[in-house]
This record gives sequence, C-alpha cells and structure tokens, in this order.
Amino acid sequence: MRRRIMAANWKMYKTAEQTTSFFEQFIPLLDPNEACRIVICPPALSIPAAVSAASGTQIRIGGQNCYWGKEGAFTGEISAEMLRAAGATWVILGHSERRQHFHETDSDVLKKTQAALDAGLSPIVCIGEKPDEHKAGKTNDVIVRQFAAGVAGLTEEQFAKVCIAYEPIWAIGTGNVATPEIASAAHKLIRCEAEKRFGAEAAQQLRILYGGSVKPDNIKGLMREPELDGVLVGGASLDAHSFAAIVKSA
Ligand code: PEP
Repeated sequence: MRRRIMAANWKMYKTAEQTTSFFEQFIPLLDPNEACRIVICPPALSIPAAVSAASGTQIRIGGQNCYWGKEGAFTGEISAEMLRAAGATWVILGHSERRQHFHETDSDVLKKTQAALDAGLSPIVCIGEKPDEHKAGKTNDVIVRQFAAGVAGLTEEQFAKVCIAYEPIWAIGTGNVATPEIASAAHKLIRCEAEKRFGAEAAQQLRILYGGSVKPDNIKGLMREPELDGVLVGGASLDAHSFAAIVKSA
C-alpha cells in the first residue's frame, strides 16, 4: 500500500510572517494520526519560518526548485544542499511554470533531480502536457517523451526515492480539473513506462500525484481512483481551511 502524499505548492505567495500565521491556523485543523504525508513548499525565503512552525508535526517542508551545482558563480540560484541546510526535505522540480517562464528542459530537470537526491531531498518531478497538445490528443506522447528524457535517466536506486506529479498544464490554475478518469489513465501510462524502465516492483512502489485545480469540492472524486497516490495543490493550498479539507480526503 503506497502512502498518499498531499503536497502544497505555494508558488510566489506568502512572506515568512504570512507563513507563520498559515501554520497557526492549519496545524490545529489536522488529525494528529493523519495517515498521509503532508508536504508544504513555500517560497525559499519562507522555508525557515515553515520549518520552525511545522517542527514536531507530521508536516514536511520542501522547496519549489533548486540548481544542480553545489555552489559557485550562479547568481540568484539556490542549491539542493542549501535547501537541505534550511530544513527542507522535499523539492518540487520541473514544474510547468519553471519550464514555461524559465525555459527549463527535461535534461535540466534530470540534473536537478540527481542533485536533489545527492543532497538527501525527496524530489517531486512534474510532467504534463500543454493545452494544445491535449487538444491534439498528444497527451500520451508527451508523457512518454518527458518520462524518457527525465526520470528514465535515473538509476534504479535513485528512482526508488522519486515521486512524479502528473500536472496537465491546461488544468493548472484554470479551474478545469482533469476528470478522475483522465488523471487515472495518465497515471497508468506513467506507471507502465516506469515498469518498462525500472521493473514491476519499482513501478508498483512509485507514488504518482495529480495536480491541476484540485479543490475541496473535487478532491473526493479524484481520491477514489486507486492510481492517484495524492495531489499537488497550488491555489487551494494557500488557505489553511481549504488545504486541511483536501488533506482530510486522503
Ligand atoms: C500547481 O501549481 O502545481 C497547481 C496544481 O496549481 P493549481 O492547484 O492552482 O491548479
């Protein structure tokens, strides 16, 4: 049985002070025996506040990106080791907004994933098709291509520590959540690619999250799909009550 992961991507929202007040509201709303893993990924500067607020709880903190170099003349970048030193234990990599606005490629994402693993972080690697690819019926081609160019380059040992988030870009921030059937079909394909490359057992262990307009009112339908091992939530994770309602559906 794969333990579900309910992850929050705060994008570029919440100062350290706002982060602290989120946790003050959020923690009392949780069941201390919650079976799922909760991961919250604030902006880098708010990570220390999140780590301190979440200390002693079942919540883990992650970054939203990292660079593959350990240190050096890379102005503006943050290494995986720096995230780890700040108390983060997870990191989102290859988010579509990073690919779109900052031109990250699959090979960049692979290097970042390897660096994150070397630093002891658990990576959530995002893949998913663009709206025009979805309309053209190319979803499966995109998934297969991104898997082959990204996570397939990991070793078996590295792969065992990675989660994948299927995030169709047409669903991110649009309110157009994928139907449970669409999400489940994509997850099955990812698992099938994982099996071809890493074997049946590794594929069965792989946790695949769905992301894209997840809200308290659509989470239950998604969580009924056994292929969905959790969710990556953007907008609806910024409010403590809304994210707590999502977590409870795990
Ligand atoms: C995301 O940013 O990863 C995301 C899924 O956003 P939203 O939930 O707002 O669609």
